[in-house]
Amino acid sequence: MDTIEKLKILSEDSQYDLACACGTRKDDSRRRGLDGKWLYPVTLPQGGYSVLLKTLLSNACKNDCKYCPLRSETNVRRCTLHPEEIANVFMEYVRRKKVFGLFLSSAVIGNPDHTMDKINAVAHILRYNHNYCGYIHLKIIPGASDAAIEDSFSLASTVSLNIETPGKNRFKVLSGKKDYENDIIRPLKLMSKLTGAGNRFERVKCTTQFIVGASDETDSEIVDYTFGLYKRLNFKRVYFSAYQKGLGSPEIPGERQFLASPEKFFMREHRLYQADFLIRRYGFHKQDILFNEQGNLKLDKDPKEIWAENHPEFYPVSINRADRETLLRVPGLGPHTVGIMLKVRHERKITCLEDLGIRGKRLAKVKNYVVF
Ligand code: SF4
Repeated sequence: MDTIEKLKILSEDSQYDLACACGTRKDDSRRRGLDGKWLYPVTLPQGGYSVLLKTLLSNACKNDCKYCPLRSETNVRRCTLHPEEIANVFMEYVRRKKVFGLFLSSAVIGNPDHTMDKINAVAHILRYNHNYCGYIHLKIIPGASDAAIEDSFSLASTVSLNIETPGKNRFKVLSGKKDYENDIIRPLKLMSKLTGAGNRFERVKCTTQFIVGASDETDSEIVDYTFGLYKRLNFKRVYFSAYQKGLGSPEIPGERQFLASPEKFFMREHRLYQADFLIRRYGFHKQDILFNEQGNLKLDKDPKEIWAENHPEFYPVSINRADRETLLRVPGLGPHTVGIMLKVRHERKITCLEDLGIRGKRLAKVKNYVVF
């Protein structure tokens, strides 16, 4: 296979890893650029929009993760890119100003450190042979040694390792070969330590991803772990990827449940992102995210509205007097609008929400919870 043929296969296989590509619109993380399936749209940290080259280095996996189409028992076309091949293709895109950065992951070829060596070699070639100073996101391979992980940190702008499930009992259902404590939690803790305040890798961002619906886990378990990842391990982003039918083995819970109601899986993913936003941007605490009796988020309403319904004593909120945190508890008001409100309030009293650009259904929603 030539490089482009391999890239077609490997970039297709990298699509389920969302732990980097937060697009500007809903589902952008599943879209691809026109120029090749390996080009993904992303939102830049400073705002605006660009494109990442995103691929696996290899799909020749020795592992048996039951949710993954690349597990060793499946009959897929296997191939591996050489570090130089990836570096050359990537630099060509950089020269043509077509990409903002690289996201590189891989299946496990042989053993975790052998795979990490190849991933790190790509970043090494880019940094030292091509003097590339831009964005590189490297995936940490589950089970990688501390030394290999530190090597990635010395080369990358962002690193990620997918946590996949909340807890080892859920994980056991999905993988017989990977050990949750040693292969996932140990590296996650090391990643947190390496980026701690005052550490030499403080600048490197850490992200992770849950696979939603594959193992019978509940939303409350996922939110619990998500909270820990932000507050205790200082991770910058947690992503959620809905399990999709046909990817995994017929024996796992997700495969059976997807058939019963496929749309539920994507709505679950959407509600988890909303809960994640409330934690990261709205100052919500763990106990503010409310679940149904089964421990799941309600699918028919967003978690902020659910909180509002359960706290009638908190409303109405005064548009002209309430502080930022209080305004952010109003369904329909987000950090951007609240920022505008606080600025406007310095100059005049707010008498009309339409003046702030709030209209339609959103206006009707906000009006239920505020006074002027
Ligand atoms: S380690 Fe597991 S999740 Fe990763 S590519 Fe291999 S089988 Fe898939």
